[in-house]
Amino acid sequence: MDSTINSDHILLHSCCGPCAEWPVQALLQEGYSLTLYYGNPNIHPIMEWERRKDTLKAFADLKHLPLHIEPRFEQAYWESEAWRDTYSSRCEMCYDLRMDMAAATAAHMGFSAFTTTLLVSIYQDHEAIIMAGKRAAEKYNVQFIYRDFRDGFRKGQEMAREDGLYRQKFCGCIFSLEESKYKDKIYRSFEGSDG
Ligand code: SF4
Repeated sequence: MDSTINSDHILLHSCCGPCAEWPVQALLQEGYSLTLYYGNPNIHPIMEWERRKDTLKAFADLKHLPLHIEPRFEQAYWESEAWRDTYSSRCEMCYDLRMDMAAATAAHMGFSAFTTTLLVSIYQDHEAIIMAGKRAAEKYNVQFIYRDFRDGFRKGQEMAREDGLYRQKFCGCIFSLEESKYKDKIYRSFEGSDG
């Protein structure tokens, strides 16, 4: 365990660069030290997974924050729908999986606490994220730091625009891509990308 990591140092699960903007500012203002964590096997296809990972890396560099990247990518799992035996909705499964990964990584790296940028989104199921975070915290004996960051959602998106970050037009999984009204444009954007 790194002796510099203590209860004031949080592992911040980050779904993407833009959503990290506001929570990072808010948590730094509270006096926390942060390590960003990219653990998002939900994001499909691989070109999009790479794009969001690279954007978070650019953001971490800009803010001089350490970033831990989990190279897990699970398109086959989402498409197999094996998760339907356990979960009533894909988002419930998605939050559970990512909070479980974040809490496990926090424990493994010696952090006593973690939280997630998902709490900034006005489009996500906020209560389901809290429940997933608490379940994972209990399982790995780390603290889940809850903050309602949603008041800063618009401001965070504005900050991302100012920082020139890539701002995606769909939530992340293959289902959300198929449902997006920007689907054709998004698929065209992958052409020529070697992901
Ligand atoms: S819509 Fe978003 S939160 Fe729900 S399963 Fe897809 S990527 Fe995960």
